[in-house]
Amino acid sequence: MADSTKPENGSKYEADLKRNINDLDLWDDDISDEILSSYDSDILLMPDKKQRTNKEMTVKVDIKVSTDQLARHGTPLERFRPGYLWVSDLTKQNWCEQQLYYSFTMSGIIEVNPVVQKVMTEGSNLHLARELAVHDTVPVKVTSNEDIWAIKVINLLNAVQGFLNGVTLAREVPIFGAPFQQDVFFVGLIDELRFDPESYNIDLLELKTKAFKSPPSKAQKSQHRLQVLLYKKLFDDLVKGNLSKETVAKHLRLDLKRDFGEAVSLELTKHLVEFQNLDGLLDHLFQRMQCLTCVSQLHIEYVHQESKQTLYHHTEDYDDDDLSNIFEDYLKFWRGQRPIAGVDIEEAWKCQKCDFADICEWRAKKSEEYSSKNKAKIK
Ligand code: SF4
Repeated sequence: MADSTKPENGSKYEADLKRNINDLDLWDDDISDEILSSYDSDILLMPDKKQRTNKEMTVKVDIKVSTDQLARHGTPLERFRPGYLWVSDLTKQNWCEQQLYYSFTMSGIIEVNPVVQKVMTEGSNLHLARELAVHDTVPVKVTSNEDIWAIKVINLLNAVQGFLNGVTLAREVPIFGAPFQQDVFFVGLIDELRFDPESYNIDLLELKTKAFKSPPSKAQKSQHRLQVLLYKKLFDDLVKGNLSKETVAKHLRLDLKRDFGEAVSLELTKHLVEFQNLDGLLDHLFQRMQCLTCVSQLHIEYVHQESKQTLYHHTEDYDDDDLSNIFEDYLKFWRGQRPIAGVDIEEAWKCQKCDFADICEWRAKKSEEYSSKNKAKIK
């Protein structure tokens, strides 16, 4: 991994932000796949969008109910993400699993900070501007879940077909799959794919925008590494033919034979493909994907929100065993097979800026453990 650019001193913009938020040196946009997907014209029209947002999925519980009691009402996967997980669910878990859990069960106590919201909006705008620089978006009326997923497939197919026709850049590319034969489905949105028509190499790039010019922290780098590793895994699985349409249909509860609505059928003809349903469209996608090569290099670019200047650029090496181990451990949480874990003592600084610090059971337990240890030492 290498840093490419040295940042300048902070500006008035940074000074204003810093006056409003503590510890913002660590702050980047932290925009999830879920939020970015909501910018897609197709998702704007999703009939079930409301049911899939964190807010609507929240289970209202009394603050005094313990996590043990909560666990009895179903696994986190069943309760919070029936059907599929977002890639960004795992990156949030990488930051703090306990925090992720509270974000589902106790979202009501999150304080909305207008300055943090401004940083998020700036980040989203930059993502959108980059996307619109390479293609336009067209609203398409969807009438069923099958239509919604057809739009995602069309957007992925557009990128793939573009590469096969010599296009070198695609942005905001949907990706999905069920990695490592774990029977859990994932959906994500890749910021950027770069295709080299000479070598056929495909590079993947994740854009992170930063309010400040400070380098990304170790904890942030860990999150971003996991994100690009998982994107590569999902993309490569499609290239290798490791995903079946039956798996897609099962997890997303889709009827492969259901006819698309009029608007989606029309959109498909504009892309010179004519399929009545997902059965044919997915076959076509899988066949086209298998004409490509696996992702070669993984890049993470950190861009300053105010100046739009690239601050840092890292490359990450792919490690399938490492990803598989992390994946297996994280899925144990989602399946309710192990207790929820908070941050280690080395990362206790994360608690200082956590909305759930006052009610966090993990933090209270750890603090008790350490004070008992200290007392024992004194004796
Ligand atoms: Fe995680 Fe600390 Fe927040 Fe608890 S207080 S949820 S351990 S970051």
